[in-house]
Amino acid sequence: MARQGTTLQGSQVIRVCAEHSAPLVPQGGNTGLCGGATPDHSGRAVVLLTSRLNCVRAVDTLNDTMTVEAGCILQAVQEQAAVAGQFLPLSLGAEGSCTIGGNLATNAGGTGMLRYGNMGDFTLGLEAVRADGEIWDGLRGLRRDNTGYDLRNLYIGSEGNLGIITAATIKFFRNPRRLVRRCWRCPAPSKPLRSWCESPSHRFPCPHWSAQTDNGLSAFASRRPSSVSR
Ligand SMILES: Cc1cc2nc3c(=O)[nH]c(=O)nc-3n(C[C@H](O)[C@H](O)[C@H](O)COP(=O)(O)OP(=O)(O)OC[C@H]3O[C@@H](n4cnc5c(N)ncnc54)[C@H](O)[C@@H]3O)c2cc1C
Repeated sequence: MARQGTTLQGSQVIRVCAEHSAPLVPQGGNTGLCGGATPDHSGRAVVLLTSRLNCVRAVDTLNDTMTVEAGCILQAVQEQAAVAGQFLPLSLGAEGSCTIGGNLATNAGGTGMLRYGNMGDFTLGLEAVRADGEIWDGLRGLRRDNTGYDLRNLYIGSEGNLGIITAATIKFFRNPRRLVRRCWRCPAPSKPLRSWCESPSHRFPCPHWSAQTDNGLSAFASRRPSSVSR
């Protein structure tokens, strides 16, 4: 197991693994739950943890961007954005433990996906270490970047297959001026979208939504009875 504290250290670990043909498994918050961050049973794999790679490298309030390292916890980055008067729309159940690198490697969507898109949709630049140990510096804050191949999008969603994501430049949004919570109880999974489209609230953008089972909804309703319409 290795814990890289810098991009260079990650590159050195990857080079040694490549020389010895040892499988390398990047691990962020280990919240992915489908085994991608878990080594196999061969006993030969090296797990590369990104938890020490957790600096905020830059905040650019003119460009509405923040450059953060891959091991930063999502919730910490949300809070940093709020301090700068900004809003990071990625929100998911694991946000207190998952990392920016893991969010990018899985192109996570979360509850704001319908309105804002997946993590990759508001990521402008990336830094990564390739499988041969070479560092690729694509950390740019440009809204439009036509300089050759789009390597950034190759790494997003690659689940650690192509190398390690070490840092990202993320675009922020203006804080919604007002948030209103609405809750619908729907008899079947196909109903929520129709209910939403037919509701007067459809005229307003929906920054976050999530589907809950009946148990989850009952728990919610017991705490906020007035906000559940049937
Ligand atoms: C395909 C997929 C899609 C998902 N989509 C959603 C979603 O839309 N909404 C939602 O709520 N949850 C989603 N999840 C769960 C969610 O991805 C995780 O809870 C969280 O985003 C993972 O972050 P983590 O730091 O815990 O990563 P981990 O669980 O540690 O790792 C997840 C995967 O990313 C790789 N990885 C981790 N860090 C890096 C890195 N720095 N560089 C390269 N690879 C790395 C790991 O090897 C592993 O394959 C998804 C999971 C997967 C596997």
